[in-house]
Amino acid sequence: MKEKLYTLQTPIYEIGNRITDDHKEGLKHLRLTTIQDLLYHFPTRYADMREVAGASTLQVGQAVTIYGVMEKVSVRRSFKGHIPMTESVVADNSGTVRCVWFNQAYIGKMYPNGTKVKVAGIIHEDQPVGKAGKKGFFLSNPTIERATSTIPESQSGLFAPTTETEFLTPVYRETKGVSSLYLYSLIKKVVQTGFLESIKDPIPPHILEKLHLPVLKDALLYIHFPKNENLTIAARKRFAFEEIFFLQLKQYQEKVEAKHSLAYPISFDKKTIQAFIKSFPFKPTSAQLQAIDSILKDIARKEPMSRLLEGDVGSGKTFVAAVIAYAIIHTIQNKGTQPLQIAYMAPTEILAKQHFESFISYFKHTNIEIGLLTSSGCAKFPSKSDPSSYTSVSRAQLLTWLQDGRVSIVIGTHALIQKQVAFSRLALVIIDEQHRFGVKQRKALAQSKKGTGKNKELPHLLSMTATPIPRTLALTIFGDLDITVIDTMPKERKKIITEIIPNSKRKEIYESIRKELQSGKQVYVICPRIDEQDEEEAQKRMLKSVKEEAKHLAEDIFPEFIVDIIHSKMKKEEKEEVMQDFLDKKSDILVATSVIEVGINVPNATVIIIEHADRFGLAQLHQLRGRVGRREYQSYCYLFTESKGEMTTKRLQALVTAKNGFELAEQDMMARGIGTLMDGKQWGISDLAMEAIKNPKLVEIARDESREVLDTDPLLTKYPLLKETLEKRAKVHME
Ligand code: ADP
Ligand code: MG
Repeated sequence: MKEKLYTLQTPIYEIGNRITDDHKEGLKHLRLTTIQDLLYHFPTRYADMREVAGASTLQVGQAVTIYGVMEKVSVRRSFKGHIPMTESVVADNSGTVRCVWFNQAYIGKMYPNGTKVKVAGIIHEDQPVGKAGKKGFFLSNPTIERATSTIPESQSGLFAPTTETEFLTPVYRETKGVSSLYLYSLIKKVVQTGFLESIKDPIPPHILEKLHLPVLKDALLYIHFPKNENLTIAARKRFAFEEIFFLQLKQYQEKVEAKHSLAYPISFDKKTIQAFIKSFPFKPTSAQLQAIDSILKDIARKEPMSRLLEGDVGSGKTFVAAVIAYAIIHTIQNKGTQPLQIAYMAPTEILAKQHFESFISYFKHTNIEIGLLTSSGCAKFPSKSDPSSYTSVSRAQLLTWLQDGRVSIVIGTHALIQKQVAFSRLALVIIDEQHRFGVKQRKALAQSKKGTGKNKELPHLLSMTATPIPRTLALTIFGDLDITVIDTMPKERKKIITEIIPNSKRKEIYESIRKELQSGKQVYVICPRIDEQDEEEAQKRMLKSVKEEAKHLAEDIFPEFIVDIIHSKMKKEEKEEVMQDFLDKKSDILVATSVIEVGINVPNATVIIIEHADRFGLAQLHQLRGRVGRREYQSYCYLFTESKGEMTTKRLQALVTAKNGFELAEQDMMARGIGTLMDGKQWGISDLAMEAIKNPKLVEIARDESREVLDTDPLLTKYPLLKETLEKRAKVHME
């Protein structure tokens, strides 16, 4: 075997001699560039020998390993001749199953007719395209090995033992051009050079010992070439720990850094605040008042606050933000100097605009000037000509007003963190539904372009979210960020009527929805993302189902109403436009995927239909439901499900009875794992770590150990590799 000197940074294309353009595209799509990326591309599951199936007993979605003989092997090009592929049939005593390997013409040559093989993968079913003979079960890009030599050759004995029955085949996330099998072969190649021996572990050994976790090189071996299930579990646990540990190190570093920074201490006048609260047309809930209280206590200190305000959709977080903003502007300290300022950031333009309008209505009797800054335009309240309204202003003008302190509150999108934006005295940053916002961004926001260096103060941070975040996750992503929960809803809000609807009652429900539509109300229809192995495939089908449903509703069910669609593959501007149209009532029915923006307020929408409701997590269903019932109107949530299982009904029934989203989130987390509860990507966390977050002990140990390391050695001089890895990871995180 040729010895090659690899490092973790060696590009993948230096490994194989058979890397084609298709491979390169695919690797790029999977974001795999270096050997490090490759080794950290973990199997999503293992094809297990215990799942060995006879070809006659297959079911769609089943993970199987089949021993059989290759028959009818053909190598050809498919899809208008673009993709080279191998097709074959694997026959065992009980029957046959078709196998297809896209982009892998060589399979046909390596495993000709008559070869005894072991194939493993997930059973798919062809889309019923209507062509005869084209329907049926098949394995797409299954792993394949000769049945007589299923065990990878190994010099070291570290690979799987020679008894076939104990061997697990890894299955990797794949994409067009790059199959699971191909990734497996690349990894095998790297490992066979003995490369793992040279890998050093960034995690201090005493921590691993304490937790009985394998060192990096062993864990890599166990995860890619497991001898048994226990080893894969140990390896996965180690990598989950690694991720959580590094996240917590970073959080703790930031916390320490923030502690050593200054903020504007806010000493407020209680009476002024009480008068402001009285000016609202409603009475605040006790939960709102409590939240205000604890935030005011925080910002009275010289240390910058980091607080997360959690509350169900509609619980009135914007009101809390407004009261805090008012308190800061009217702080009795610093009289005579320029007033303090507040920046309020929302994830989309529509939301920013909605907050702008809410703030105008909350502040119109004060003389506070409010700006709106998004990439498509800027505005200011009050307008010169009409003090009860706002006008659009140039960006340059607004930036000047922010810098000289004339505008006290600015509301906007991500455009707010751009370099050109500078403040006179920024005291508070409010972030809506934006969870990863650290010390660095706060600094960037606070820094004045004038460069006088006079404002060293870091703004206080108030994050707000309607997403119920279990404690262990909060610990991981926020370190010890303080959390306040608004757990009650304004009283006059009517409870949303939630019903689980079997398909047989669909017509009936459509008729009652028609009455709502006729009275001028609007309707959301949510279609699920269909759970499939290949992400691209899943996306394709998801779009199709949103589009198909929209077409069906527009043509067959509600032809007299206007139907629009929104989904994740649309451009940001397109999405904003569709939402704006819906808000302006230019459309009546909006068919959407579940990923559309949270928090958007369309008070006129009173019905939400959720198709295949059983496929969603409870917390997610709860969030979706929160899109309606935003006013005093009676609203409805219809959960359509075809599943008649008792479990499904029982689970969905929780939505009818649960008091709030947090209760549901905890239930979900225990029943289905946190990964299904929320998408880890929005928190910058892998699925693996999301799963581990279910385990409070692991998270707490990661927290304690990260603190211990940093408390005893703040600059990590004793742990150079840890330091280097932390910096590298932090960089990736910021991108
Ligand atoms: P959130 O941001 O928490 O989803 P909002 O702040 O947008 O909720 O509030 C939703 C609506 O409820 C707004 O129209 C707001 O004016 C109103 N609201 C807020 N607090 C109360 C309250 N205590 N009583 C009645 N209505 C309220
Ligand atoms: Mg809100």
